[in-house]
Amino acid sequence: MKIHINKVHYPVTVLGPGKRLGIWVQGCNLHCLGCISQDTWKQDEDSLTSVDELLEMCQSIPSAMLDGITISGGEPFSQPEALKYFLTEVIEWRDEQSMEFDILCYSGLSIQQLRKQHSEILSQLDAVIPEPYVNDLPRGKVWRGSSNQPLIPLSDRGRKKYLAAVDTEYSGKGDMQVSVDEQQIWYIGIPDRDDMQATRVALEKKGIVQEQVSWRA
Ligand code: SF4
Repeated sequence: MKIHINKVHYPVTVLGPGKRLGIWVQGCNLHCLGCISQDTWKQDEDSLTSVDELLEMCQSIPSAMLDGITISGGEPFSQPEALKYFLTEVIEWRDEQSMEFDILCYSGLSIQQLRKQHSEILSQLDAVIPEPYVNDLPRGKVWRGSSNQPLIPLSDRGRKKYLAAVDTEYSGKGDMQVSVDEQQIWYIGIPDRDDMQATRVALEKKGIVQEQVSWRA
């Protein structure tokens, strides 16, 4: 089984509690206005990865260092079979190893759509953050981009880990991290509305021009 993936990164500390493995799927046709991940919209052959390989990436992290897995994108539910297969495998591994990490998934679909079309996948998750990003709304609560997006715990593990955060306001700091590889600089997390523009201006003052950015397709 294969899945379109944009990026996998560890540790992610700004999209859920603790040190997490972040998985960004490739492919989204919702095209929310103001989406900062426009590089995840289009799928092609290059983004295909085997789910087994993805599982191996999870298993390469020492169990004591893995608090959770966050699946974002892109739209994770646009690849339902691959997502279901990955979750089945990762949960089997978690159970075998008696691990405690949780699985949080973002989606641009409404919770009603998810319950109607993807109830089996919801039953595999510990928490979900549904609903599309709305640029005109104020910033949402912690780990969320706009105020229409709820955080919904879905399992006992999810309720234990996430109930306190359901109504927790964003603190105003610490929701972004930066990672660098040979080719690109990655901003991970949820910026405030004008953060990306402010970053561009600050870098340009230092003579650094960002040529291709994911928030302008
Ligand atoms: S915010 Fe999420 S759901 Fe909306 S277009 Fe971007 S990737 Fe898709």
